Amino acid sequence: MPAGAGSNRAMVPFLANMKAVCIRAPHAATVARMALRIAPTLACILVVVFTPAHFARHEFPVFRVVLDPGHGGRSMRPISLYGDRYDSISGAYLDIYKEGAALYGIHEHVIMYAIARHAERMLAHCAPGGNFAAFRAILARYTDVEPQRITIETSLSRPDSRNESAVRGRSDPNEQFRLFDFPGTNGTLREGRLSVINARRPHLVVSLHCATDGPPKYRGLNPVIVAPYGMLYEGLRYLKGERQTPNFFYRSAYRDWFSESSARPDIDWFIKDVSVYFTGYPPAGYPSKGSRFKGYRYNMVSWAYRDPAGWEFRAWHHPDRTPYAIKYRGFNASNAFWERERSVYERHRRDGGPEGYGGDNHYASAEIIRYVLYSLYVDAGRRSHPDERLTRPYISIWSVPLHVNAINAFVELGYLRIPHHRHMLSSRQLEIAEGIAVGVYSLLAGVTPRSSNLAQPPRGKRIDFGKYSISPSKNYFDCAAHD
Ligand SMILES: [Zn+2]
Repeated sequence: MPAGAGSNRAMVPFLANMKAVCIRAPHAATVARMALRIAPTLACILVVVFTPAHFARHEFPVFRVVLDPGHGGRSMRPISLYGDRYDSISGAYLDIYKEGAALYGIHEHVIMYAIARHAERMLAHCAPGGNFAAFRAILARYTDVEPQRITIETSLSRPDSRNESAVRGRSDPNEQFRLFDFPGTNGTLREGRLSVINARRPHLVVSLHCATDGPPKYRGLNPVIVAPYGMLYEGLRYLKGERQTPNFFYRSAYRDWFSESSARPDIDWFIKDVSVYFTGYPPAGYPSKGSRFKGYRYNMVSWAYRDPAGWEFRAWHHPDRTPYAIKYRGFNASNAFWERERSVYERHRRDGGPEGYGGDNHYASAEIIRYVLYSLYVDAGRRSHPDERLTRPYISIWSVPLHVNAINAFVELGYLRIPHHRHMLSSRQLEIAEGIAVGVYSLLAGVTPRSSNLAQPPRGKRIDFGKYSISPSKNYFDCAAHD
């Protein structure tokens, strides 16, 4: 469905509204409004029932993929009008909108949108009724094995942002680009990108980014992953004084924590993120951009893991023995979101897995990068530049990999400060897009990559989606959508 569909919160609890209609027998205007609200849903059902896709479902597995090009909005002030991270406790945006990297006139949001569109066009060959022969021709550059026909429904998480003046000229330039839900002009909350993505029940979300600069040891293309609950919980125990030393951190696969500055060691940034993850606040004495309170992020998204209406009244005073406590000892992880965090499915997504840690998110991110490198290498006459390599992942508690209810391949495709990366990102977008499209297919169906002398060839193993099944009729990916 298009990004705008279902963007008004009032449309969402449509079954609940139907019930209210039946009980209270409202007047004609209300019924007419209801009909308008459910019309898109009925249209979706009709389209599903009467298109070949419905029949294809019985023949081929169907996967839903969202390509998520980073950013798109503008870092404008005042934050009270143009920010992101709308907090319904204070009724204010907590942060400036992050418009992404830019250097020498090259803008991350422009490049990532262009690459995502190319990849979307290629993956459209795998759509219901698509020209799969055309995709088979692309795959022939990567494998000698006859590919399996699968059905992939691909969409983008946001509209075009490339016309700067058109975006800036809108009354709210960030309307279609915010990550979190935000107030609309008529007093209802509008859905941000995280809610829009989750409403589509994707299996895989591919988030595309690049950075301006980074530490030398990261030079290359990097996965971005979030730590599993168990690791963060150990951090909370340390903050509560239940652990005397931070040795668990230094022994962990997640010790190479994302560092906001070199003024403090990595462990300090880990501890800061643990505090924000559990309480919404950094520990005392930590610098903080924007508001000190970072919000209960899972309540800033429309999905099944949000607290029931009225939670703000409980959260207001941050009482002990609740998920809103400020004191670490008072924190009680007792709601739907924290149950999700502790679930085996989140462990599959974020821990262990084919890369040894970081779960399927890490594997998916690394595979997409390996296919991008393979694509660049094939197109350059089987030669690679030294800056074309997969390097270490960034590890933290970022909003997208944490709050999308899908496998998240989150990739930094390079650094604008590195001349070869600038060239790659500006002049080789089609090759990068092809690597992404083939990587997506490989994660869903598996590919046996043709042998190469690449140092980091794709592994070609599909993700085992079976382990995300909850019952014969229910799986992890279907559970987050809020209706
Ligand atoms: Zn970015």
